[in-house]
Amino acid sequence: MHILILGGTTEARALAGLLHGEVRVTSSLAGRVANPRLPEGEVRIGGFGGVDGLVEWIGGHAVDAVIDATHPFAERISFNAARAAATAHVPLLALRRPGWVPEEGDRWVSVPSLEAAAEALDDLGERVFLTTGRMGLAAFADRPEWFLVRSVDAPDAPMPARTGILLDRGPFTLDGEREILARHRIDVLVTKDSGGAATAPKLTAAREAGIPVVVVRRPPVPAGVPVAATPEEAAARVLRG
Ligand code: NAP
Repeated sequence: MHILILGGTTEARALAGLLHGEVRVTSSLAGRVANPRLPEGEVRIGGFGGVDGLVEWIGGHAVDAVIDATHPFAERISFNAARAAATAHVPLLALRRPGWVPEEGDRWVSVPSLEAAAEALDDLGERVFLTTGRMGLAAFADRPEWFLVRSVDAPDAPMPARTGILLDRGPFTLDGEREILARHRIDVLVTKDSGGAATAPKLTAAREAGIPVVVVRRPPVPAGVPVAATPEEAAARVLRG
């Protein structure tokens, strides 16, 4: 059996580790990160060339099933996967970590987009910890606030005029996140609703510090795709057949 994992997440890497040795597994990465942490098993890097390219890859490599374990905000590849799997007549499973849920003491402002997140800053703070990744910085380019931008690779312009860059990748610790908020005198955090444990400590640190959090809601997902919430659940489903 040959499983294609559309990856780029901590959970995708964990899933590849669980399946490796049991079935043939190929992880696909988009190639956005210069030096990605590679999963076990085979790895291919780069776009497929849209739905048609993905259909071709599935057929040409005798793929028996596809698992969409991409990031909840990687909208295009998830829709491409749904269309390609249907066309190629292979089963598709989505590994999608649940979204975060506010807890007592949280001051969350829920917004539908990065642009709305930028507008929401008007009333919230002056020193922003921006953790939405380096790809969407243009939405904040005209903002007057000071931004601490955390990303895996250095971001490109356009970006806000007053920006500090912090190159790092999760998982992050609560102590580390507390330290960042204090050292940079952060008064508002901006995040996508990525879910998962690896980047959740910033939410706890913000709650403790009484800092508001602008949370960008998730984009839509393709209808009718079965979902597993954890790598273990996805692996069990695959190995059950
Ligand atoms: P996207 O907008 O959904 O996809 C754009 C294009 O990138 C797709 O059409 C596809 O190109 C290619 N692509 C995306 N994921 C791929 C994969 N796993 N393997 C091969 N090609 C892929 O995706 P994105 O938001 O740019 O994210 C790119 C990757 O980074 C994803 O794999 C995702 O898991 C990871 N990631 C994204 C975020 C985020 O916030 N968006 C955060 C962390 C990690 P073709 O049409 O040519 O096939």
